[in-house]
Amino acid sequence: MTERLINYEHNTLLITLDSCRYDTFELAHTPNIDKIGEAVPAMTNGNFTLPAHTSIFSGFLPKSDDKNPDSFYTANGVQLWRLNSSKNREGQIGVPLSGRSILEGYRNLGYKIRGFGGTQFFYDDHQILRADFKEGEFQHFGAIYGHEGGTNEDRHPSVLPFSHIDEIAESVKNTKKWFLFINSHETHSPYNVKILEDPELQELVKYSSKFRNGKTDPEMKYDYNNGGYRLHALQVEALEFVDEGLGDLLDKISHDIPILTVITGDHGEAFGENGLWGHIINKPKVLEVPLLINPQYLHKNN
Ligand SMILES: [Zn+2]
Repeated sequence: MTERLINYEHNTLLITLDSCRYDTFELAHTPNIDKIGEAVPAMTNGNFTLPAHTSIFSGFLPKSDDKNPDSFYTANGVQLWRLNSSKNREGQIGVPLSGRSILEGYRNLGYKIRGFGGTQFFYDDHQILRADFKEGEFQHFGAIYGHEGGTNEDRHPSVLPFSHIDEIAESVKNTKKWFLFINSHETHSPYNVKILEDPELQELVKYSSKFRNGKTDPEMKYDYNNGGYRLHALQVEALEFVDEGLGDLLDKISHDIPILTVITGDHGEAFGENGLWGHIINKPKVLEVPLLINPQYLHKNN
């Protein structure tokens, strides 16, 4: 028999930090995320946005090897969300859901579904990852690139999802039960949350874009220790920007019931290790992501 572990009323917040490596979490100063919980290293089920989110929306989060017995969601074989379309399994499940995705599952439970972000996989209704959002449930905030890697103008901070806190908070205002999803573009290439003025950084972004996503880099002009670490530092800064926005968002949304909060990376990123850049590569830094789950976060306004 299936035992449902989460029997209390809750709202749900799911944030995917696009391309965010686990070690970015270790380097960043994130006081607001720290109040929610501690991220553990986990392995993603997809090395780029599409398969990683398909997996997450199907209830298969990145899998942590943390064996903390107090964390039911990371204990071996215990799932936070499980769809009835998945193979029946006896045992403990956080929230059993009916439907073809966790979005449909929560909608079937009477939740208002809202999604924001992010990468181009969420750009419009023609995208597979938008399939389980109904009309009006998703708003795209993110850069639209005319070419690989984009430009400073494409990536102006004003287009990023965490620059739209008021709209996001408004979307679930006066709502009894809500499921809020944000695909954060901030941590995705080109990683900047402010206009890049430094010509060397501009050159690094351009260089890494040229060899991104599995292309071999015959030039090896840069690697992690020679330049790549500066892109990693941009991702750290981006995560800190997200943390600040998240604090603001949490102050603005309702807290009459606990928030089941999940913050994770969809996949990681290579910053020049062994001449590799970007993702869509099965390498440790691309597969290792942060995973933070607090099944009943209670936010206290500052
Ligand atoms: Zn992604």
